Amino acid sequence: MRYINAILFTSFLFSASQVFADLTFPMHPQQVAPDIYALITPTRNLPNPENKGWNSNSAFVVTNSGVLLFDTGSSSAIGESIKKVIAQITDQPVRWIINSHAHGDHWLGNAVFKDTVEAIYATEQVKTKIIEDGQGWVNRFMQMTEGATGQSEILVPKNIIDQRTTIRFGDREGVLFLSGNSHSPGDILMWLEDEKVLISGDVIYSDRMPSTLDADLRQWVLLLGELNALQPKVVIPGHGKVTDIQGVMRLKTLLQSFWDAVKKGYDEGQSDFEMVGDVTAALAQFEPHYPGLEEKVKRDISGVFLQVEAASFQ
Ligand SMILES: [Zn+2]
Repeated sequence: MRYINAILFTSFLFSASQVFADLTFPMHPQQVAPDIYALITPTRNLPNPENKGWNSNSAFVVTNSGVLLFDTGSSSAIGESIKKVIAQITDQPVRWIINSHAHGDHWLGNAVFKDTVEAIYATEQVKTKIIEDGQGWVNRFMQMTEGATGQSEILVPKNIIDQRTTIRFGDREGVLFLSGNSHSPGDILMWLEDEKVLISGDVIYSDRMPSTLDADLRQWVLLLGELNALQPKVVIPGHGKVTDIQGVMRLKTLLQSFWDAVKKGYDEGQSDFEMVGDVTAALAQFEPHYPGLEEKVKRDISGVFLQVEAASFQ
């Protein structure tokens, strides 16, 4: 009996390594609850030649009549890889897609699923941005990755979410809700109540400094506080490893501290570039959890400064 198990185990290992050996992107689905999987990229960087643009996470839910895919990656090539990985787990096709927001690393894989997908959900803001700047994202990622992301076909989401909405997919249901434009205009998140799994898109970064370029920082902090009420058991973030409510609260503290440090400099009459050193120093304690912090602070500080300035006139 022990011998048979050993043979079975060995052949399982062999087939598993065969399955993933030929993939351009070595994706290993992480099951976080029954039929719910996270696809977590190992990189903590922006798209570059080394990661070939696979810098963001996706998630999928297998049902009795199709698969729901949350975010589709930075290119058709990444979408193809996601499709192959899903096919290792189920024969069901991808029938439903969620585009969490308009940044190109979350939707440029859409077109790979055009033969089977019945609905692609996003907000109106995200749909409009994809129509207006979709090709811009393709070009930017091509530049950043030295061509690795290729010429992805653009497939625009048509199923508009404009308020908290329960969607049915196969034998399951989930809640899509708006972030209030916290990380970027028109972000949506997905809540799977039965398993207490939150699929957040870029509203949560668990171990990389978030981009706040398009953010409404005060609203973001507010939203993260509200997520506490859900008490998710599992959070699949847009970037970084699978986390939980502690990861959400840590991010809230980081973003609040970013705001407070810029506000302090503003109140002392400093300009945005004058306060970079002080702000970075104030946030240094977060650097071990959020690599790239200094670089992102330097890049994003003027946007936060403008928000602090605007808030002071309210
Ligand atoms: Zn992203």
